[in-house]
Amino acid sequence: MSPVDSPLLKVGGLEKSFGANQVLAGVDLEVRRGDVLVLIGPSGSGKTTVLRCLNGLETPDAGIVSFEGGPTVDFSAKVTRVDRTALRDRSAMVFQHHNLFPHLTVIQNVIEGPVQAHGVRKADAIDRAEALLARVGLAEKRDAYPSELSGGQQQRVGIVRALALQPQLLLFDEPTSALDPELVGEVLIVLRELADEGWTMVIVTHELGFAREVADEVLFFDEGVIVERGAPSELLRHPKKERTRRFLDRLL
Ligand code: ADP
Repeated sequence: MSPVDSPLLKVGGLEKSFGANQVLAGVDLEVRRGDVLVLIGPSGSGKTTVLRCLNGLETPDAGIVSFEGGPTVDFSAKVTRVDRTALRDRSAMVFQHHNLFPHLTVIQNVIEGPVQAHGVRKADAIDRAEALLARVGLAEKRDAYPSELSGGQQQRVGIVRALALQPQLLLFDEPTSALDPELVGEVLIVLRELADEGWTMVIVTHELGFAREVADEVLFFDEGVIVERGAPSELLRHPKKERTRRFLDRLL
């Protein structure tokens, strides 16, 4: 495989239990540069836990997470703090609830990560933050506090905050599920634009219409394993597995 074709991210044999509850029972996936992967599946099937393991918010019990050009982290062996930091720096996560700091303005929220965690000069971080805010139509909200924004605007700031970290991979955990229905569209538009711009993304969502249009691959999770995977036109229209069919029938 030439370097051009080699995946940006490879995950193999990912396992995670919380006490006696095995949440991930051997998850394998690959993400190619510029691809959009959509994870679907019933609540509690382990989708969020996969994202959290990739972003270093959870530590898997076993499995290998490998980014092209490093790091490669084998969670069956001893994992150092350096490994953990290197892994965390590759991706940025957008949460279901935007998780903005309520006491900081929009621009302060966006520059916090680059300045505090990555040591970017404040003036440079502000320039970049302003450009990103303008791109999602929020330039004039620069000095507003999160409580002064609509849910959709808050979530767009959450996305900008992730972009400001300049990650190789964007992780979205149900980015629209906490929004009122009329606000979902404006956030999906931003996600679609990011996909068109070539961002590599892994998205947990129940928005199947969005998945059909934007995903390169859809992965169906159930009980901690990937039951079925494929192009959206195949998996969403002609699922091969009974479990996938039952899940989709309930949603449609
Ligand atoms: P999904 O995103 O598919 O809804 P999750 O990954 O959020 O699923 O959760 C999978 C399972 O892991 C659930 O049973 C959930 O209760 C459990 N779980 C997730 N995080 C924790 C935690 N920090 N402590 C204990 N159990 C957890």
